[in-house]
Amino acid sequence: MSDLQELYQQVVLDHSKRPRNFRKLEDANHTAEGYNPLCGDHYHIYLKVEDNTVKDVGFEGAGCAISKASASLMTDSVKGKSRAEIEILFNKFHDMITGKVEPTSAELEKLSVFSGVREFPVRVKCASLAWHTLRAALDAEGKTVTTE
Ligand code: ZN
Repeated sequence: MSDLQELYQQVVLDHSKRPRNFRKLEDANHTAEGYNPLCGDHYHIYLKVEDNTVKDVGFEGAGCAISKASASLMTDSVKGKSRAEIEILFNKFHDMITGKVEPTSAELEKLSVFSGVREFPVRVKCASLAWHTLRAALDAEGKTVTTE
């Protein structure tokens, strides 16, 4: 097993068992719901956005270990970032998990553990669900997205 695969397993296990920011934000001003019918992953994302910056973020829901770990890591990664910074991060993450670019751990930090999903197209939807839902929440209020 390569170091990256080993790290991937550790991080996914850790974040799926003890997801970070796993709570409803009572003062959220942007929310969205995301659903991946292929796997049954279903999450709500709550954001508190002020001055075009994500001040706080939380999520609730259920799904496979990859979708939950990805949502957990996503919330950690976007807290305190501006919309523009999040868009850049999303694009890099998406290019990585779809295999368009090689993982650059320096830029994506812990998110680079998801580079392994490129070999499993079905899992790409699990890993990207939280990010698509995040973008929907930033774009509009109360939107529902599906990966289909
Ligand atoms: Zn899944």
